[in-house]
Amino acid sequence: MKLLQTGRAALLSTLLVPALTFADTPAPTVAFAIHGGAGTISRAEMSTEREAAFREKLTEAVTAGHQVLVDGGDSVDAIRTAINILEDSPLFNAGKGAVFTAAGTNELDASVMDGATRNAGAVAGVKTIRNPIDLAISVMNDSKHVMLSGDGAEAFAKEQGFETVDPSYFYTEHRWEALEKAREGERDAAASATEPPAQSFFSTVGAVALDANGNLAAGTSTGGMTNKRWGRIGDSPVIGAGTFADNASCAVSATGHGEFFIRWVVAYDICQRVAHGATMADAAGTVVNTILVEAGGTGGVISMDAKGNIAMPFNTEGMYRASINTSGELYVGIYGDE
Ligand code: ASP
Repeated sequence: MKLLQTGRAALLSTLLVPALTFADTPAPTVAFAIHGGAGTISRAEMSTEREAAFREKLTEAVTAGHQVLVDGGDSVDAIRTAINILEDSPLFNAGKGAVFTAAGTNELDASVMDGATRNAGAVAGVKTIRNPIDLAISVMNDSKHVMLSGDGAEAFAKEQGFETVDPSYFYTEHRWEALEKAREGERDAAASATEPPAQSFFSTVGAVALDANGNLAAGTSTGGMTNKRWGRIGDSPVIGAGTFADNASCAVSATGHGEFFIRWVVAYDICQRVAHGATMADAAGTVVNTILVEAGGTGGVISMDAKGNIAMPFNTEGMYRASINTSGELYVGIYGDE
């Protein structure tokens, strides 16, 4: 409906639908949430500028994704929009800010699931795709498969007309330093015959959405874990582990130590609990704060049920996260106490 109408059209619409005003038009129930990774995020070690940069980027991404929903776009479009913003930022471990493998390369994983149809798409170990979430969506929409990896995924991208980038596009100094630190930790551990320190920070990105048609979707994009073996694939592209969406239960995107999220089938477990009557908060909280903690798996999730209830639990010190709920309220958080 147009805001302003003039002349005869305005008179006619007044006569025909005198009672219909904007106030009477029910606002579509949409909701949106994102994460930018969980882990040891301490206030003491965070500079004011860096914290502001994270909050700004999270706000930009969650607002952009939410706007797609407000404008009538579907939940998968909203996820793509927000994840692209996070992938293009060097702050997060996805796209431009991807971490390095032990071989000094960047191998990216991503997945998406459409809760209306249970269609899903995923890519693993891609090296020249600037926005892996776009390729995962293309696998879902344009192929008969769910997951493509490595050279096969890159060949599919070319067929679909994707622009590729040189692998050097993914180089960032701070991720290279993180690799060197991890290598040093391994050398020290080998010299003292102890276990190398486990990675304490994960900064994969993800989004969950509920659109105006009541459809849920979830998506996740990552560079994986620093110093991972080349060829290692984590939970992020694994449907049911790092990503899951079904209108009958919920949508989940995870971040954390992928090997645990795969073995505990985290995203699916949470949604099954919702399907069997648990609230969104109870289902996600139990899996992240009881089951994963007992297993020794660190990380967190963002989750949303079909009514737009949002839960974003994590068992680490912090998790970069943001949401806009069904009332349109914006929330942005980093630490555990906010
Ligand atoms: N879950 C990701 C992986 O294991 C890492 C992360 O969340 O940052 O590959």
